[in-house]
Amino acid sequence: MEKRDILHYLENAPYALLMREAMQTLHQHKGKHVNVRALIEFSNICRRNCLYCGLRQANRAVRRYRLGMDDVLANARDAARQGADTIVLQSGEGAVDAGWLAELIGELCWDPGLPVTLSVGECAERDYALWKKAGAKRFLIRHETSNPALYAKLHPGYTLEDRLSCLRVLKDLGYECGGGFMVGLPGQTMETIADDLLLCESLKLDMAGIGPFLAQGGTPLSSEKSGGLEIALRALAILRLLLPDANLPATTALASLDPERGQILGLNAGANVLMPNFTPDQYGKHYKIYDGKKRVCLNDALHDIEVAGRCHALAVS
Ligand code: SAH
Ligand code: SF4
Repeated sequence: MEKRDILHYLENAPYALLMREAMQTLHQHKGKHVNVRALIEFSNICRRNCLYCGLRQANRAVRRYRLGMDDVLANARDAARQGADTIVLQSGEGAVDAGWLAELIGELCWDPGLPVTLSVGECAERDYALWKKAGAKRFLIRHETSNPALYAKLHPGYTLEDRLSCLRVLKDLGYECGGGFMVGLPGQTMETIADDLLLCESLKLDMAGIGPFLAQGGTPLSSEKSGGLEIALRALAILRLLLPDANLPATTALASLDPERGQILGLNAGANVLMPNFTPDQYGKHYKIYDGKKRVCLNDALHDIEVAGRCHALAVS
């Protein structure tokens, strides 16, 4: 697909037609099954200051936490019992000691024995290698925006090139790699979104998450307009056409923008992954990346999969 075709799909093509094409591609390449990943937000400590994110270091209003290994393991076992197929460990950047995380990964590979996905930001190559050796299989790190100038503005002290080089290192180490970006960022244009989609394609991502930007109090972007639902869903559907075999989640950000229908619409736009939250409640409420973040639980995932007429491997009680 050329950039002008992507722009047509983003702006002018009838919505229903795009969704139909995305679903045809999904069914041909992935079938009806929805993968359910258990998300455990094990720490909200972060050394970075991404302008959009509520967990940025400069946000003094956040009560910081770090889960103990036993808490993570207990919740991971619970998720496995209920039929989740992967444990996703997410945190701010530089939240924990690399050796501690390696030990946790080792424990998770042993009991409950599910594949471990990491989402812990930009780290040293030796740490990525250590976690791979400990048993981690996949890594999620979004490029956030393909516009280098916008990237530099939103991430003081960091560059898009650094971010992309992390993805290359992770791939070389043998991780299955996930990327993605936000839709509706202040300063982003339709052209940028088209470039974001083409970048995901050229990176040959195994997984990619697309979510609307959501303004968060206590950040420099708190009074900006949030991204729209339709444009995020259009971008997701186009990504299904560009990366037919990739695993694409209906993101929590979609659920936060429209708590009733967001993830169902995501599944109907070609997504085949849901990521219900298994962070213990008393901590999860402090993992406030953006305002109005919905806590998607396993029952929500089950409900959305059934409404969308798809299949799952969850234990139904
Ligand atoms: N610290 C890690 C992982 C946690 S953040 C990292 O940054 O990679 C996970 C994702 O949340 C980010 O990649 C970003 O795309 C998304 N995010 C952060 N703030 C957001 C906001 N205000 N609106 C929508 N998504 C946001
Ligand atoms: Fe930290 Fe990730 Fe939020 Fe950036 S997006 S401030 S790295 S948690």
